[in-house]
Amino acid sequence: MSRLLLILTIGTFAFAASKASDQQPRKLKVHISVDMEGVAGAVTGDQLSPAGFEYGRFREFMTREALAAIEAAKEAGATDIVVADAHGNGENLLIDQFPPDVRVIRSWPRRLGMVAGIDDSENAALFIGYHSGTNNVTGVRAHTFSSANLTRVALNGTNVTEGSWNAAIAGHFGVPIIMMSGDDAAIAEVGKVVGRIEAAETKRSLGFHSANTITPQASYALIRQRVGAAFARLGDFKPLKLQTPLTVDVSFKNYLPSEVLAYLPLFERTDSHSIRFRARDMVEASAIMSFIGDYRPDLTP
Ligand SMILES: [Zn+2]
Repeated sequence: MSRLLLILTIGTFAFAASKASDQQPRKLKVHISVDMEGVAGAVTGDQLSPAGFEYGRFREFMTREALAAIEAAKEAGATDIVVADAHGNGENLLIDQFPPDVRVIRSWPRRLGMVAGIDDSENAALFIGYHSGTNNVTGVRAHTFSSANLTRVALNGTNVTEGSWNAAIAGHFGVPIIMMSGDDAAIAEVGKVVGRIEAAETKRSLGFHSANTITPQASYALIRQRVGAAFARLGDFKPLKLQTPLTVDVSFKNYLPSEVLAYLPLFERTDSHSIRFRARDMVEASAIMSFIGDYRPDLTP
């Protein structure tokens, strides 16, 4: 074998080997958490709960915004997609409109709340239909977890939105948030915490119950485009890692939750309406928050 032939042979072999590894099926696992307040056009309870006269139509719009994200993720190479229905009763998404290889998380209570189903095998998370937090003076339907019961949730002393709380859960599992959709206030708030992610602004907030919105059709196209843009620079995003153990502050609209929770040594009562607890990590913090929100002695079954 001549020296030249040897080099050519080795070269060909190396090329073949690298081709083979390129063709290895590579997993790209994606988590999509879908809320409803940030969906294009949603402004009041008329769209957001089963009693509202437009709810049925907005379930469709919410589903199609989620579907736009699913389809764009698949186009970008996503091999596994979990979608968490993260609004109201957790039974909003019209799951028969999704492709057959998508898994859907439905209803409550559940561990990890709005991002249930996330784990450390996933590569990216997307938030669709998100809204701003309860301490924001702007934002359509601004609230954190419960507009009826909570007036503040803070992590390590900083007020959080559902978006930044859920980004911290994802970050615990090493999963970065790469894209979100929602109103301008929601996007600005999450961006402040997680940095420059891709965002689809579905509407501009004019107040708690009013917005200047794009149409559903425009929203599907925008979400699809921004999800594609996010996957095109997947390497840019870092998981949100908070310093642990965590300090979590929660303020209630009413007196009694803080009074009664403070019977437990886990909780310190920090003022008339507020408690504080410490948690090892976001998984524990999320479990305790779910308990605070979901426990009632008359739970059935
Ligand atoms: Zn919601």
